[in-house]
Amino acid sequence: PPAATPTAASALVRPPSKPAVFIPVNRSPEMQEERLKLPILSEEQVIMEAVAEHPIVIICGETGSGKTTQVPQFLYEAGYSSDNSVIGVTEPRRVAAVAMSQRVAKEMNLSPRVVSYQIRYEGNVTEETRIKFMTDGVLLKEIQKDFLLLKYKVVIIDEAHERSVYTDILIGLLSRIVCLREKCSWPRVAMGPRSLVPQRHLPLKLLIMSATLRVEDFTQNQRLFTQPPPVIKVESRQFPVTVHFNKRTPLEDYSGECFRKVCKIHRMLPAGGILVFLTGQAEVHALCRRLRRAFPLTRHRPPEKDDQRDSVEETRRFKKSRARAKKAQAMTLPQISLDSYSVLPAGEGDEDREAEMDDEEEEALGSDLDLDLGDHGADGGEQPDASLPLHVLPLYSLLAPEKQAQVFQPPPEGTRLCVVATNVAETSLTIPGIKYVVDCGKVKKRHYDRVTGVSSFRVTWVSQASADQRAGRAGRTEPGHCYRLYSSAVFGDFEKYPPPEITRRPVEDLILQMKALNIEKVINFPFPTPPSVEALIAAEELLIALGALQAPPKTERVKQLQRSRLSCPITELGRTMATFPVAPRYAKMLALSRQHGCLPYTITIVAAMTVRELFEELDRPAASDEELARLKGKRARVAQMKRIWAGQGASLKLGDLMVLLGAVGACEYAGCSPQFCEANGLRYKAMMEIRRLRGQLTTAANTMCPEAGLFVDPKMQPPNEDQVTYLRQIVTAGLGDHLARKVQSEDLVDDKWKNAYKTPLLDDPVFIHPSSVLFKELPEFVVYQEIVETTKMYMKGVSTVDMQWIPVLLPSYCQFDKPLEEPPPAYCPEKGRMLCHRASVFYRVGWPLPAVQV
Ligand code: ADP
Ligand code: MG
Repeated sequence: PPAATPTAASALVRPPSKPAVFIPVNRSPEMQEERLKLPILSEEQVIMEAVAEHPIVIICGETGSGKTTQVPQFLYEAGYSSDNSVIGVTEPRRVAAVAMSQRVAKEMNLSPRVVSYQIRYEGNVTEETRIKFMTDGVLLKEIQKDFLLLKYKVVIIDEAHERSVYTDILIGLLSRIVCLREKCSWPRVAMGPRSLVPQRHLPLKLLIMSATLRVEDFTQNQRLFTQPPPVIKVESRQFPVTVHFNKRTPLEDYSGECFRKVCKIHRMLPAGGILVFLTGQAEVHALCRRLRRAFPLTRHRPPEKDDQRDSVEETRRFKKSRARAKKAQAMTLPQISLDSYSVLPAGEGDEDREAEMDDEEEEALGSDLDLDLGDHGADGGEQPDASLPLHVLPLYSLLAPEKQAQVFQPPPEGTRLCVVATNVAETSLTIPGIKYVVDCGKVKKRHYDRVTGVSSFRVTWVSQASADQRAGRAGRTEPGHCYRLYSSAVFGDFEKYPPPEITRRPVEDLILQMKALNIEKVINFPFPTPPSVEALIAAEELLIALGALQAPPKTERVKQLQRSRLSCPITELGRTMATFPVAPRYAKMLALSRQHGCLPYTITIVAAMTVRELFEELDRPAASDEELARLKGKRARVAQMKRIWAGQGASLKLGDLMVLLGAVGACEYAGCSPQFCEANGLRYKAMMEIRRLRGQLTTAANTMCPEAGLFVDPKMQPPNEDQVTYLRQIVTAGLGDHLARKVQSEDLVDDKWKNAYKTPLLDDPVFIHPSSVLFKELPEFVVYQEIVETTKMYMKGVSTVDMQWIPVLLPSYCQFDKPLEEPPPAYCPEKGRMLCHRASVFYRVGWPLPAVQV
């Protein structure tokens, strides 16, 4: 380092770790009053002292105690965002990042330009931003650009108990970044290229916030933190919640069961919001619709647009419900008290209720009020109003932000709030005024089979910890009730805690990101819970096959091989791939696509593959004959459209990926209207997301290589025949490990292999999914996007591969008679041409990333 000049000497004085500034905040008196009720307010001093003294602090506190909304404010007031720096807060869910930034801005009376959010597709961050809420993936991307996160003085990792993969990785990375920043503030121990190390800045503070007390994975992990960080516990005022188990566990129809419970609570129990936990968006909507029909907000409300197709039925119900309401009013309402209800020990007394709950929906709607209430006795107390309208709101992560915000508004005068939510309401968002929780006990999770790579969304039981979190939502403002739609015996069999996500899913995307950060020996990375060695090896092998990592030398012995495999350096192609915000297989496709004008098409295909399920689910069971006929009609129409979009000849060979391209193209030509989507069985939301992702991927490509000068032309021309062939090669190169070969008739062992395909990893036959346009074509070689397991193993997103391409594009999956010195000659039967397959055209046009050695 150069000799210290007198001016630089002042930089040697270690700056105080606690900024001395105090930034006043002008809150409204009502807001201030509301804040003061939060338990975390009494801990402000303890927290701020700990932050001043320690680089890393852990805060544990019940959901709703005020962690997310208040801690950033404490830090802001204490000046942790002075000198143009930013307080960063990461959330595992997009919903939370958006909602919390809005809430904090409102509490602090500051504009969204100052308290902002950034999620994958959108954000409102400006130069003025001082508190920035973001998803954990966004911060990980930022670390790639600026390893020391110099823009931030504090980073808060929120919801750490969820153990999302990115949260875990961030904690690992930040444990090191904090050390580096400590050292960097002393120029003499600065490391790395001088230009990267600023001479003077404050150390970085890391706050980890968790809704549970289970933080040993962070505190007891020597590799993560050499000294266990202090843990501050926030005592919260939680009112008692009476838990009611069902006598037995309903097997299938938990949505119906939820409906009946809500009806019952609404008709019989005193005022207080209801929160229902279901597993997915479709279920949430279905239940909302059902509840709205049962308890319309205004008695003469015309049928909603959604429901128009059911309007005949709707009218019938409508008349019935009016008649019922009259009947209900005519009766004197028996009264029940909260006490008489809550003294029922868990499980007891549920049997009687159960018996009625089994009855049909009509019953639940209240045709026989008297019978219901007789069970609980009538001994004074609050008087429930059976004819009270229900203010039903959905809540799930992909819901538009302005709709999400509705759950925080008080319900209209004279109505009861009922929020039907997915897991997002478990810990990320606290909805005010909830007194009753209905918990179906299930959660939808992506399940991966480590051996086969087969993934599926599965609805499984939640963990005990999750179930308790859900119950806790009922006791925020007064004593509450939680109705569990399963028995206490079943609860006893639940896992205690959900396992961290990193142990349950493939990690190739993470490994690529880490290698792009020059973390070569991923095995040494301080994961809070490390993934298994097999998962790490599988990830590195895939990345080597894709050309993102350098293959280890062939000569080494097995043991050495394993070690060196886990420390393969990244290639230039790998760096290019890492800049695209998509999975490595898709990133490889993008990296190859600057040839022959294919990039806009690949971007579209990748965007459509990333957004799960572009097509509406039409195989669902129908509720009525009418609906069945409608579904049938639509299925036929969609099948026909798919055939049209897939085209003939060369284009049909691109199979389902051609359908995606055709569907997106056609939809854009039709102005991307909800009507077009509805008519053709496309999910409008998915279409919008594809549009955004296309824009984002185009920007990524342009940043890497400005002379490409791509722009998103929503209405792109269909690809020509040559381009389709190149696209097939691109897809083959990206999905190479998902190659399958049709079982030849001479190899047929038994009938179960008829029309089946064989893949390298699975012993069982796999089949082309009936929804695929190649279902009847049965080409010899295909690549597939994924295998889903239903009655059989089905390949989805199928595209045809020419046999001659395999040794060229996928040499690592071939066995050659002779050692392969030169790659086999390029060959393309139709044109005699072949894609340039071994290089990414991006990096050849001169786009080196500056490497930072850490
Ligand atoms: P934690 O992070 O500890 O779970 P939060 O900071 O999210 O707690 O919430 C603290 C309080 O702020 C809760 O009582 C919640 O109801 C309230 N709150 C959060 N967001 C909003 C909002 N958008 N509107 C009204 N109240 C809100
Ligand atoms: Mg929170």
